Amino acid sequence: MARSIDYRLAREKMVKRQLIPRGIKDPEVLEAMGKVPRDLFVEEALGGETYNDHPLPIGHNQTISQPYIVALMTEALELTGDEKVLEIGTGSGYQTAILAELSYKVYTVERIRALMVGARSILARLNYNNILFKAFDGTLGWKEYEPYDAIIITAGSPKLPQPLLDQLAEGGRLIIPIGDMSSQELIKMTNRRGRYIEKNLGGCRFVNLIGVHGWKE
Ligand code: SAH
Repeated sequence: MARSIDYRLAREKMVKRQLIPRGIKDPEVLEAMGKVPRDLFVEEALGGETYNDHPLPIGHNQTISQPYIVALMTEALELTGDEKVLEIGTGSGYQTAILAELSYKVYTVERIRALMVGARSILARLNYNNILFKAFDGTLGWKEYEPYDAIIITAGSPKLPQPLLDQLAEGGRLIIPIGDMSSQELIKMTNRRGRYIEKNLGGCRFVNLIGVHGWKE
C-alpha cells in the first residue's frame, strides 16, 4: 500500500522553518504559501520532496522555484488584492496560483506551450478563475492588457526587457532575476511617476529567460 504523505503538515513546516525564519513577514503571503497545494504542481514521483528547501524539475529542462524564492518575490510585489499582475514564465503554474490568491487578475505568459497547457489544467482544477494564459515570448510582455500594477519574471535574464518596463503602471513594482546563465541578482524596480527606483534583493539562480529581449535560443 502506498504511504500517503501529509502535505498539509509539510506545508505548515515549510512556512515555519523556511519562510518565517528568513524574514517573510506579509501575513497574506504566508497564508497563501500555507494554502496552495504545491504537491499538485510537481510530478507524483517527487511528491516527498515537494516542500523541501530547493527547486525541483518540472520537465522540458525547467524547474519550479524553491518555496522561499516564490515567497520573497511575491512579498516584494506588495500585493493588496486589486492588482493586475503580469507573470512571465508560468512553468508549473505554482507561482501563478500564489499570485491568483493575492491579486485581482493574473496574466501569465509561457514560451513552452506544453507547460502552459499543464499549468492551465491544474489551475482550473483548483478553481482559479482570475488567470489568463498565453503561450508566447514573454520578453515582449502582453501589450493587450497593459499597464500592470505588478510584473514578475521567473527566469533569469542578461538585462531588463524594455517592453516589460514600458508595461509597468505608475506606482507599479517589477521583479526580475538579472545576471549571467549560472547566477543572478533579484532586482526590484518601482515606477515612481516614470522614474525607476532600483533595489537589489539578493542572489538567486533561475533557468534562462529565452526570447527577443532575453537570452538567444
Ligand atoms: N514560476 C515557475 C517557474 C518556471 S521556470 C514555477 O513556479 O513553476 C521558468 C519558466 O520560464 C520556464 O517554464 C520557461 O519555459 C519560461 N520562459 C523562459 N523564457 C520565457 C519567455 N521568453 N517567455 C515566457 N516564458 C519563458
